[in-house]
Amino acid sequence: MIEKAAELIKNTNHITAFTGAGISVESGIPPFRGENGLWNKYDPVFLDINYFYQNPLRSWKMIKEIFYDFFGKAKPNAAHIALAKMELSGYVNSVITQNIDNLHQEAGSKNVYEFHGTSQNLICMNCHNTYSAKDINLSILPPKCEKCGEILKPDFVFFGEPIPEPANSASFRETEISDLFLLIGSTGKVMPASMIPFMAKMNGVKIIEINIKPSNYTNAITDIFLEGKATKIMTKLLEYLEVN
Ligand code: NAD
Repeated sequence: MIEKAAELIKNTNHITAFTGAGISVESGIPPFRGENGLWNKYDPVFLDINYFYQNPLRSWKMIKEIFYDFFGKAKPNAAHIALAKMELSGYVNSVITQNIDNLHQEAGSKNVYEFHGTSQNLICMNCHNTYSAKDINLSILPPKCEKCGEILKPDFVFFGEPIPEPANSASFRETEISDLFLLIGSTGKVMPASMIPFMAKMNGVKIIEINIKPSNYTNAITDIFLEGKATKIMTKLLEYLEVN
């Protein structure tokens, strides 16, 4: 099946990768759902935008623990690196990611649409001034804007917030101009991101999916399902594509 997928990739013009939390699991970042999922340990309410407005300190304590103390130490794995190499060698045109961990960019991917924003920046809720998270001292919570004194929020999408532009429009545009989508490590349960592969399929786009187990996409829209860990399958795909 991997050889068949590689043949399809070789003979396809415009390829978009669509990634979920699964691609970063082997970097040590757990997904939200399923076995070892973060929602088994934490209450997702702390990422609800209305809860954040009302309880910024409580939200920030969780946010710091998960996204900055813990995620912050993760490094790209072989799957992120393979995807970046596929872009550099001209096979992959862009990456639409639901992840906020910056690991695609760290691996060398250039054309990345961050559908849910990024944990790398903090933004002021009042004046919208943006800071690199690295420059902000998170030992005093909640962090405040140096310009206006208002509370800073991570620049990723909370429950109840809209999808940022230009990532939103660019992602849906890919569903119209791509010939093939490479889905990696996504349950397909998070709306509206989960609609993107379905829209692509409606537009005649072929779907290759990599996951350790079937997702919402597998029986509905996937043409070639490659069951297994993202690092292993992506490394094999690179071998068949003869990319070093
Ligand atoms: P999810 O947490 O709902 O599901 C993860 C998927 O990855 C599952 O289908 C699982 O079977 C698969 N998976 C697990 N390990 C894998 C591996 N080694 N190789 C291949 N597949 C593997 O993830 P989701 O659908 O992406 O939705 C959760 C939302 O939470 C996303 O929108 C994302 O924004 C956010 N999130 C991001 C991060 C991150 O930035 N790394 C981490 C957790 C959650």
